[in-house]
Amino acid sequence: KDFRNNVKPNWCPGCGDFSVQAAIQRAAASAGLTPENLAVVSGIGCSGRISGYIKSYGFHGIHGRCLPIAQGVKMANRELTVIASGGDGDGFAIGLGHTMHAIRRNINITYIVMDNQIYGLTKGQTSPRSEMGFKTKSTPGGSIESSLNIMEMALSAGGTFIAQSFSTDLKELTALIEQGIAHEGFSLINVFSPCVTFNKVNTYDWFKENLTKLSSIEDYDPSDRGMAMNTLMKHNGLVTGLIYQNSGQPAYEDLVEGYREEGLARQSLKLEKEKFEKLTAEFM
Ligand code: SF4
Repeated sequence: KDFRNNVKPNWCPGCGDFSVQAAIQRAAASAGLTPENLAVVSGIGCSGRISGYIKSYGFHGIHGRCLPIAQGVKMANRELTVIASGGDGDGFAIGLGHTMHAIRRNINITYIVMDNQIYGLTKGQTSPRSEMGFKTKSTPGGSIESSLNIMEMALSAGGTFIAQSFSTDLKELTALIEQGIAHEGFSLINVFSPCVTFNKVNTYDWFKENLTKLSSIEDYDPSDRGMAMNTLMKHNGLVTGLIYQNSGQPAYEDLVEGYREEGLARQSLKLEKEKFEKLTAEFM
């Protein structure tokens, strides 16, 4: 299946987001999806444009709110595979509350964050993922705030699928997205996706020097939550691979009483009318 459309991305040459787009398209194809059963919802930022670059249903939402929209899409039609996407500023600053609650809610969507540790669309300001001391137009003397340890937070919030990757590692990233789509619950995949125009610190070379692949750690077990937390703390969050997965927790929609397999549009109005009349009769 081909998830390419004829829209040319207007990201800067070399932006990490190109690889994320390619990985989503490849993962959707190898998961056996078709464009008509995939919905990509995005927030605001350079990365937010991604919903227009993938042949699927797409919704470019508002800043920090891609997750409420994506959850609404999933609840209205659980037959759709739903991917939410955005940047670290979108999801971990204005949208952080939604991110934490979506994680603990465990609704069956995949959230892919293009984490470049800066606000790119607004031309280079410090983000919640920027390291302390990071100099930008908004912090010319260096950031005096510490960076958010988002993977540790996701683990603490009860995340059931937590992964991280690097945009140049297309093979690993594609495999993780495919695993995230297959996971019955909320999957968070944070992708280090360098902003070549505004972030001159966290470059491709910087990540190559500082990232550790979990597959290189002997006996690493992604079902062991304690090991996941210890490893994140030891490496200051700079690891890639499947950090943690708990396949034993039911997805949110499986716990909603009366929630049906078929999408709203396919449901019988007759049945709803009967239910509605029964309900109103109780109040007559
Ligand atoms: Fe990518 Fe940065 Fe350019 Fe935005 S400004 S498209 S994040 S390289």
